[in-house]
Amino acid sequence: VEETLVLVKPDGVARKLSGEIIRRIEAKGYSVVDLRMVQPERSRLEAHYAEHQGKPFYEPLVAFMLEGPVVAIRVAGDRVIEGFRVLAGTTDPTLAAPGTIRGDFGRDWGLAVQQNLVHGSDSVESAERELGLWFD
Ligand code: ATP
Repeated sequence: VEETLVLVKPDGVARKLSGEIIRRIEAKGYSVVDLRMVQPERSRLEAHYAEHQGKPFYEPLVAFMLEGPVVAIRVAGDRVIEGFRVLAGTTDPTLAAPGTIRGDFGRDWGLAVQQNLVHGSDSVESAERELGLWFD
């Protein structure tokens, strides 16, 4: 069975949406197989977002994630990597379809693209790498 890493980002935790996000994951039929609340340190975030290093949004994104805590969730299911990204909706909550996590709860304000509630791995390779990073 495929596995993915889901993170409830600091805005999702602060807005008390962790339960709602887990509810949607389970309602879809996926299984939560491990879960932890983490106060992320800079080195973990730099490794997690290595592919974005040097982009204009990188430093503000790491600073936002450092506000923590985040909820890290190991989720299993058939095609769960693709499936969770559909549940999450597109990166920019303004453009995310209603019915998705970002479409339903993302706020239309200046930092909406950065503070978009959740992260989900985007491939088998990144899922393996990210699960190793957040669950030792
Ligand atoms: P994730 O990988 O977190 O599930 P994603 O694949 O939808 O999100 P990426 O393009 O991989 O988006 O960007 C990673 C994260 O970086 C986004 O979720 C968002 O928090 C932030 N980000 C991306 N683009 C921007 C931007 N233009 N401005 C601010 N933040 C951004």
